[in-house]
Amino acid sequence: MKFSDIPGHEDVKRRLRDMADKGRIPHALLLEGPAGSGKFALARAFAQYIHCEDRTPDGDSCGRCPSCLQHEAFNQIDTYFSFPIVKKSSSSSAISDDYMTDFRDLLTENQFMDFESWLLKLDNINAQPLIYVSEANELLRKLSLTAHSSRYKIVLMWLPERLKEDAANKLLKLVEEPYADTLFIMTSDNSRAILPTIYSRTQRIGVKRYSDAEVAGYMAARYGLDADSAARISRLAAGNVSEATKLISLSKESDEYLQLFMELMRKAYTRDVASLKAWAADVAGLGREREIKFLEYCARMVRENFILNIHTPDLNCLNNSEMAFSARFSPFINERNVLKIFKTLNDAKADIAANANAKLVNFDVAIKTILLLKQ
Ligand SMILES: [Zn+2]
Repeated sequence: MKFSDIPGHEDVKRRLRDMADKGRIPHALLLEGPAGSGKFALARAFAQYIHCEDRTPDGDSCGRCPSCLQHEAFNQIDTYFSFPIVKKSSSSSAISDDYMTDFRDLLTENQFMDFESWLLKLDNINAQPLIYVSEANELLRKLSLTAHSSRYKIVLMWLPERLKEDAANKLLKLVEEPYADTLFIMTSDNSRAILPTIYSRTQRIGVKRYSDAEVAGYMAARYGLDADSAARISRLAAGNVSEATKLISLSKESDEYLQLFMELMRKAYTRDVASLKAWAADVAGLGREREIKFLEYCARMVRENFILNIHTPDLNCLNNSEMAFSARFSPFINERNVLKIFKTLNDAKADIAANANAKLVNFDVAIKTILLLKQ
């Protein structure tokens, strides 16, 4: 990760660069600020810059030297990642390395990943990941070894506010009286929750939330969004790029579902059976999991259209393109057919979940929809 891969934060980048250029890097550095503001990306870029063998004149890592390439591949030998994990069993001595593949995958998917996406990656949204004393012991062991290829050994610690107290106490001595050429670079979403003994011994840099314009600019460049969608998403995300990324995938998915929903209703209305057969195959092509989501989406749209039809628009929750279609479609969803359509969609969902032939199930939905729209 180079500094130039991260939007904005020019002041923070300048300070970090200065520290490295002047050889005044603190042994324990904390980047603190709101979630989704790119702190861990900055920490990674800083570590890469420190280790780079050929820094560029404009103050970035080169991205090409062996050390940079290793950083990009998450295998720079003097760089250690430390982050909260869930113990698999109470007796296990769990360390971050056990989860490195998942962590690396998450960072590769999205450099602005956040705690919630880490919980999803761990497949346990209710988990309370922590940094355990076993991890602290592991860090002590690693840091006592000599650096292999570079002057500095660097620990990149994500979310030190999740250090267990015994783990923090173990690390305290190291932060107070570090081994030579050992650096802790920590990033925190909630630095008030860091144990004061650790917090007070760090040198701190505040990282501000991104402005809406910065988030919109990044979204447009990274995901090719048009200016309007980028602006809308960035307003909703309130400076949190991680949140903006989630909103994007949601909106992309629902755009696709809306197209399929409109196609179903239009073709059912015109009794275009041949096209409905093709539609049934298209929906089957989504794959089982997404098809179930699509059927849930259809149920939501039917509910929204019924609400529109009975003229209680303040209960409505439709985006602009959904509203454009629903304004004219809603008269067709009424008290005679709404429950029957729900039942059709629910039955289909159950059949798909039970591995029924998706094309047949979808075609059945289409035929029933022809009949139900006439009621
Ligand atoms: Zn380099």
